Amino acid sequence: MGNLKRRTFFKLGLASAALAVFKPSRASQLIEDSTRVTPPKPVVISTWKHGLAANENAWKVLQAGGKAIDAVEKGVRTTEADMSNRSVGIGGRPDRYGHVTLDACIMDEKSKCGAVAYLEGFMHPITIARTVMEKTPHVMLAGDGAADFALDYGFKKVKSPLKEVKKEWKEWKKAHTEKFDKPEINSENHDTIGMLAIDADGNLSGACTTSGWGYKLPGRIGDSPIIGAGLFVDNEIGAACATGLGEAVIRIAGSHTVVELMRNGHSPEDACRLAVERIIAKHDDLSGLQVGFLALNKNGEYGGYSVYNGFNFALTTPNQNELIDAKSNRNW
Ligand code: ASP
Repeated sequence: MGNLKRRTFFKLGLASAALAVFKPSRASQLIEDSTRVTPPKPVVISTWKHGLAANENAWKVLQAGGKAIDAVEKGVRTTEADMSNRSVGIGGRPDRYGHVTLDACIMDEKSKCGAVAYLEGFMHPITIARTVMEKTPHVMLAGDGAADFALDYGFKKVKSPLKEVKKEWKEWKKAHTEKFDKPEINSENHDTIGMLAIDADGNLSGACTTSGWGYKLPGRIGDSPIIGAGLFVDNEIGAACATGLGEAVIRIAGSHTVVELMRNGHSPEDACRLAVERIIAKHDDLSGLQVGFLALNKNGEYGGYSVYNGFNFALTTPNQNELIDAKSNRNW
């Protein structure tokens, strides 16, 4: 064997040895734990109590043999259209200057994704996000560009904030005169809807939509429209979404982290717990820092976990339709 050949052989030998050592772990190498629950498919889960009504509409699609991507879009549109909801859609709370700015994203089983951020005055940001995914070479459009795009595709402008929301905001403003004082984040002024589904064919998709942190600084974009933070889907492994303080979720690329933990064999609930613990470890001050994760894997196993108690999620399967209290690291 000549020198060159020997070197090539040596390199190949090393490469295959490395492959043998670093073979990516697969979801089939599951870590056993008591949190595994495997319902029959299809399955849809979504954040918070408003998830119950959203799941109902998603379920209509899934039950009829429809695709997960159509189910999650239809599901979260329910919450976007609910004008009594103060944290999703144009019924949401505005930023500190009175503008309701919306963030949303969607991801399908082929890892195609679309997002809109800082979008003002449209009823269904999730459908605009899906249009970005399907009609453009881009993933995310923001602000005026996103609004112009939506108008071009025939979406109609609607007025916001609602009268009663404006009144509440004016009172808030009177009491908060500092330019940069931190708006409170608590169970009253946030609550994204994140939804994950696996359809009868075993394909996963997810959607996430919010009006964001009430009274945020203008221009602020949270985790919810960011693929990998507010939502992530890998059809080989599973899907995850987040709710709560978006800044904390972004810092650990939250939903992507949860999916990668599932890839390493963790159950959905355990993956959510480990991501929550990572957030806790990275923050000195946990006051008011609520984050909740939801996850669904390729087997239809689901789970959720939050920093503080009080996070719940809606679950719909062929046998169940209920609101479940997620486990948490600590009590308020
Ligand atoms: N995650 C959202 C945001 O930070 C808000 C929420 O879910 O409560 O904008």
